[in-house]
Amino acid sequence: MMLDGNILASAIKSEVSTAVAAARDHGYRPGLAVILVGEVPASEIYVRSKVKACAELGIYSEMHTPEASATTDELLELVGSLNAREEIDGILIQLPLPAHVDTARLLEAVDPAKDVDGFHPINVGRLLNGFPMEQILAPCTPAGIMEMLRRSGISVAGRRAVVLGRSNIVGKPVAAMLLNASATVTICHSQTRDLGAITREADILVAAIGRPGFVTPEMVRPGATIVDVGINRLTGEAELERFFPGDAVRRAGFAKRGSTLVGDVDPAAFALSSSYTPVPGGVGALTIAMLMSNTVKAARLRRG
Ligand code: NDP
Repeated sequence: MMLDGNILASAIKSEVSTAVAAARDHGYRPGLAVILVGEVPASEIYVRSKVKACAELGIYSEMHTPEASATTDELLELVGSLNAREEIDGILIQLPLPAHVDTARLLEAVDPAKDVDGFHPINVGRLLNGFPMEQILAPCTPAGIMEMLRRSGISVAGRRAVVLGRSNIVGKPVAAMLLNASATVTICHSQTRDLGAITREADILVAAIGRPGFVTPEMVRPGATIVDVGINRLTGEAELERFFPGDAVRRAGFAKRGSTLVGDVDPAAFALSSSYTPVPGGVGALTIAMLMSNTVKAARLRRG
């Protein structure tokens, strides 16, 4: 079964839109401030989609675009001013930041109550301490994965989950969420030995490593749920044919755009699964919906 991220994202967005209307009935409008430092084309695309989603759902949004040369101190001042504004419920600092900026210091400067990306150490700590998801601001991509499993009726408690990747953005938080939901969790990374033997034990396999088609059919247990977080752009004909042999739709898209996307899982492995998330249209589709949901949640939690 394919787990369609676009359908789930629409459902979440429609709930957020209802929650925004309820907030406005209570006399406030949830608001998100996005900070984009310098000109990074990929980040600009992400930020534009976030601002557009806010407009669609009735959330107030504003964009701040300091020059790439902005210093850590200047950015700290901007974050401080947003922390102080009552009408701003969420502050999102688009990563990556220029190399000269102290990213950790900046993320820690965000008021934890407005940290809609869930990257502040206080929110990371609350997640690890097992606070209920309704009460915390948790990272959007991992939270989207959990929503996808929950809404698709895929049970987690007691099952064996294997997470490939240990980044602070995806691997570690999704492992914490799966553990909090009572899965037995193994986290793998670039130094893990005999990876295939571990992944073959997974009832739920989450791949977040950024390596095109890395998870092959031999690494998957038949009947597993596969969550493919990776987003990798293929630009070569040979790779296109290797991962999508005879796929006319992919080929047409490739001819038009000169590239196609593949996840961290070889699509041939999906045939073995009981359910899987496609790329594109799987996990990626949920991330922005969860950001919107976190913004409304931050607004609600801040007002008690
Ligand atoms: P990072 O590069 O920060 O982390 C990659 C992780 O994968 C690291 O822990 C690394 O191990 C591990 N890794 C790398 N190579 C191997 C290997 N050969 N075997 C085992 N483990 C390996 O990536 P992110 O977590 O930020 O992103 C992962 C992927 O998910 C990317 O493709 C990214 O584009 C995508 N992504 C998608 C999102 C969405 O909305 N769908 C959101 C965020 C990311 P080590 O720690 O040892 O170096």
